Amino acid sequence: MTNKDLLNVVKNYGSPVYVYDADTITAQYNRLTNAFKSVKQLRLNYAVKALSNLSILQHLKGLGSGLDTVSIQEVQLGLKAGFTPDRIIFTPNGVSLGEIEEVAAMGVQINIDNLSILEQFGTKHPETPVCIRINPHVMAGGNTNISVGHIDSKFGISIHQLPHVLRIVENTGMNINGIHMHTGSDILDIDVFVYATEILFETAKQFSDLTFIDFGSGFKVPYKEGDIETNIEELGEKLGKRFNAFAKAYKKPLTLTFEPGKFLVSESGKFLVQVNVVKQTTSTVFAQVDSGFNHLIRPMLYGSQHEIHNISNPNGRERFYSVVGYICETDTFANNRRIAEISEGDILAFDNAGAYCFTMASNYNSRYRPAEVLIKGGKAHLIRKRETFDDLIANQVLIEE
Ligand SMILES: *Cc1c(COP(=O)(O)O)cnc(C)c1O
Repeated sequence: MTNKDLLNVVKNYGSPVYVYDADTITAQYNRLTNAFKSVKQLRLNYAVKALSNLSILQHLKGLGSGLDTVSIQEVQLGLKAGFTPDRIIFTPNGVSLGEIEEVAAMGVQINIDNLSILEQFGTKHPETPVCIRINPHVMAGGNTNISVGHIDSKFGISIHQLPHVLRIVENTGMNINGIHMHTGSDILDIDVFVYATEILFETAKQFSDLTFIDFGSGFKVPYKEGDIETNIEELGEKLGKRFNAFAKAYKKPLTLTFEPGKFLVSESGKFLVQVNVVKQTTSTVFAQVDSGFNHLIRPMLYGSQHEIHNISNPNGRERFYSVVGYICETDTFANNRRIAEISEGDILAFDNAGAYCFTMASNYNSRYRPAEVLIKGGKAHLIRKRETFDDLIANQVLIEE
């Protein structure tokens, strides 16, 4: 997407606005499938929570992707986008037995991540195949808010509780058809990740009816120049070989599954905002934009570093800015960043705005959530309208006096 494309989107749909590039999603999808081309049965289930717009889901469906969902509503979005239930896996954490039963009844593969629900579900529905989520207690890197493999993590069934899992399976006669791990975001060290997969392979040997092993996700993408990213090709080489050997010894066809979110959509997205005020204080120059953590909360929540470009004046002399929002609370997007000289009215573009950006947006300060635009086939398509005042009050009920 060129600066001209992006400026046109603002001209046509206003600011702030999220813009996604379908070709970038396609390229990432192909990169991951290519890295694992040695594996005969590979399945990618896109993690809907990263970016759940129906048009994005449809694009991924066109690429051959399945879906990874964490709520019944995400399952419903997937069905709405045209996925059949057998292309969807449900990997929630801490949801009710009722919700899991409802999703299972839709024909979606369920994944259970605690002993309590495993026992209850297995007792009531021994005939429904279930995948179990194991916590191998291996940390492959990342921010503590997005690491889920540590010992105190609420995610998964601890590998140390495997004997209890086996007892439940035996007592209920339930059918375990998959095992799963998701060690959390930002895999930095392939060898650490591969070590975690060894624990999963060891676990897999305990079950005789598996049809898939799901290695979750957590592939790290670069946010700025010089950033380390997960070396997908090296992972494909090492894990692919190991998986094929395991599958051969297992003697039943096994599918290798991943559920990438960030890897597929992060880099496809730009968030475009307009500068309202350039404010010089005693210590810094603020560029105040027409947005805040109501639209993009990751820098405040995780300390994530989104690169910011002044696309209205890309060749301007670089100066240092703090880019902040209009929310009545501290909402710093970037501190002391080198950006081409900013004037009021300029459009700034945030990089890596595809994953966990729009899906985390809110109406805080009673602002509208932004529009979303998808660039596909050389054309810009509006895929979500900007909210209006009617949306803000749609579910409010006035008390009649
Ligand atoms: C969030 C999530 C993912 C996707 O993680 P990314 O880091 O965005 O790739 C995959 N699996 C599960 C179970 C998740 O909760």
